Amino acid sequence: MAEPGFARTRAEACARLAAFVPRAGRAYAARRNLDEGPGRRTTVSELSPAIRRRLITEEEVARAAVAAHGLASSEKFVAEVCWRSYWRGWLEQRPQAWQRFVSGVAQAEQRLAREPALAATYADAISSRTGIDCFDAWVGELEATGYLHNHARMSFASIWIFTLRLPWELGAAFFFRHLLDACPASNTLSWRWVAGLQTVGKTYLASAETIRRVSGGRFRVEAPLATQAPPLPAEPPVPLVPLPAPPAPDPELATGLWITTEDLSPETIGLPPIAAIAAVDGIGGDPAPLKRAHADAGLADACARASAHWQAPVTRLPEPDVEAGLVAWATASRLRQVVTPHAPVGPVADRVATAARALAEAGIALVPVMRQWDRAAWPHARKGFFAFRPQIARLVA
Ligand SMILES: Cc1cc2nc3c(=O)[nH]c(=O)nc-3n(C[C@H](O)[C@H](O)[C@H](O)COP(=O)(O)OP(=O)(O)OC[C@H]3O[C@@H](n4cnc5c(N)ncnc54)[C@H](O)[C@@H]3O)c2cc1C
Repeated sequence: MAEPGFARTRAEACARLAAFVPRAGRAYAARRNLDEGPGRRTTVSELSPAIRRRLITEEEVARAAVAAHGLASSEKFVAEVCWRSYWRGWLEQRPQAWQRFVSGVAQAEQRLAREPALAATYADAISSRTGIDCFDAWVGELEATGYLHNHARMSFASIWIFTLRLPWELGAAFFFRHLLDACPASNTLSWRWVAGLQTVGKTYLASAETIRRVSGGRFRVEAPLATQAPPLPAEPPVPLVPLPAPPAPDPELATGLWITTEDLSPETIGLPPIAAIAAVDGIGGDPAPLKRAHADAGLADACARASAHWQAPVTRLPEPDVEAGLVAWATASRLRQVVTPHAPVGPVADRVATAARALAEAGIALVPVMRQWDRAAWPHARKGFFAFRPQIARLVA
């Protein structure tokens, strides 16, 4: 049986997957929208915090479902897992969407300082004081657990944008601070989708009747919700850039491994022999304590597994002087190259880029290694999910 709560180690993630697999077939397709509430969910896997940091990979999760049910019966579950791969591939090729989000948050925060009415609505929203029962409960659940069901996330974002008329970037930033599975791609692009920016002109309008139904009657939703969801003003298309094509690590060189919270199962990637391991304490930004603790626990677990796998010592480097710490560690360990699982667009990727420059100045190459799954999936994520979907059978084959 899986332990209660969200998986914090690879062993817990594998146990949670094994416990959920019997429900990943037609039962998932039929019931996944039902949100039974915190501590009671049976219709969805609650694996996202583990998948997001690759305590367990999309490939492992999808293959386990297909092995148990066949692709036809597990197609819905596997497609949801692949939405994550799709979003990541899309953002990897359109990083400007992330940069626009980051600058959008800064602009929205300036508006809060200038517009007292907006600031009051925002303060009410993030303090469970809107009077919209479901919304106020979801804020409490998010803060208490770091998780919301997918349907709650969709309705939350819709109410935030169209009923409360708050800037979408502030809502996405609030999610990003609290969600254990906070992902630059899935979070930013899902908020853009609700707002009508991702699939241009298509928005998501939350409905009281649907919320009552999918919450199994837990919410009454008597406060009025917006009855229309006009798309936010269109923005210029996000430019497409080529996917990164990092060189393979040189197996002849003395090699260190830098584990980041982007991939906590490095021993499953197929890396060259590793002589020394480093990990940075902390995940940057301003995470909620629960999110930080979850990431820390996963990182500690990954370091222990990697150390046992390669019989290599682990050095924990303190924030904030990550670059100097990495250079000192790599130099003291006499490394010629450092490999790190490829970090997709987001704060960790920014940190990796800065560290690569510092290590290069010390004559040490930092080599990001992409998983085969990402290499196979991402090139097909240039357009909509409809165009990506036919690749799913090939991916899990
Ligand atoms: C506004 C909004 C913000 C979101 N932010 C995030 C986020 O930061 N991180 C994140 O992982 N997901 C995000 N999602 C997607 C989705 O809500 C969660 O992945 C899902 O609720 C996780 O619960 P679960 O593990 O029980 O999912 P299950 O239904 O059991 O699905 C299995 C796995 O498939 C993936 N998945 C399922 N649905 C989606 C989806 N719609 N998009 C992408 N991947 C999906 C997840 O990895 C999930 O663990 C967001 C959705 C919305 C509408």
